[in-house]
Amino acid sequence: MRLSKGFVAAAAAAVTVLGLTACTDSSAPAVDVETPADFAAGSTMAELADAGEITIGTKFDQPLFGLANPDGVPEGFDAEIGKLIAAKLGIQPDSINWVETVSANREPFIQNGQVDLVIATYTINDARKEVVSFAGPYYEAGQDLLVLEGNPDGIESVDDLAGKKVCTVSGSTSEANIAEYVSSPSDIIATDTYSNCLEPLRTGAVQAVTTDNVILAGLADQNEGEFEVVGEPFTAEPYGIGLALDDTEFREFVNDTLQDAEDDGTWDELWEKTAGKVLETPEPPAIDRY
Ligand code: GLU
Repeated sequence: MRLSKGFVAAAAAAVTVLGLTACTDSSAPAVDVETPADFAAGSTMAELADAGEITIGTKFDQPLFGLANPDGVPEGFDAEIGKLIAAKLGIQPDSINWVETVSANREPFIQNGQVDLVIATYTINDARKEVVSFAGPYYEAGQDLLVLEGNPDGIESVDDLAGKKVCTVSGSTSEANIAEYVSSPSDIIATDTYSNCLEPLRTGAVQAVTTDNVILAGLADQNEGEFEVVGEPFTAEPYGIGLALDDTEFREFVNDTLQDAEDDGTWDELWEKTAGKVLETPEPPAIDRY
């Protein structure tokens, strides 16, 4: 999807790096865990609240959104959104079962019931909506490019990729979107996680890595002085929370939780203690209750 100038400007502003080092303070007070509401019997909310635990799929290697700490617990904005939803169900953060989801296994993990939710830089789109449903969006990213520091190959935008090799991840929108910009499908090197694209970029096996600007900004921040984000986003990537296709009640509950967090300033707080250490604080997008 090509974008309007307005979107591109907004997305570019969103990845303006603040010049701070990302470090998530996991000891900072989380959202208060609530006494759960009286959920309708048989609803997913009642089941999860009664069980006192929830299983959430997220990324484990994406700084700012989902990066496993030394104890194996993911930290970042996606992890905070997960803790927020758990808290509304009366579930403590340490009763969340975090499961690593990579881009390609998010739909199957939801469909098989291996996870209750996926919160994993997960773009809402029509193809995915055929098999899972989405609450949100709770953030809007844009696809961009990561190159070596100093941009030795002179890649100023996605239109400069002809004849270049680019690394991305299988099963992502990034992989699908980049196809129209490379000279040949064999110029796309697809792996399982974006962190696995960094070594090919270092060695010159590829000249760029492509995915959402905020993922790339996190990787650049994590590897200071090695990489830079080109800063010309060329798609819209609204991040949703994936859940079972037919569970409308649960989707509406998650949407209500997100809406309340946007209205009462919690969304800003969660952003600022995670991705906001590196990125400017954007306006949260309007929730789409389709
Ligand atoms: N947001 C895009 C997607 O959901 C790219 C990032 C990712 O793979 O997590 O496919």
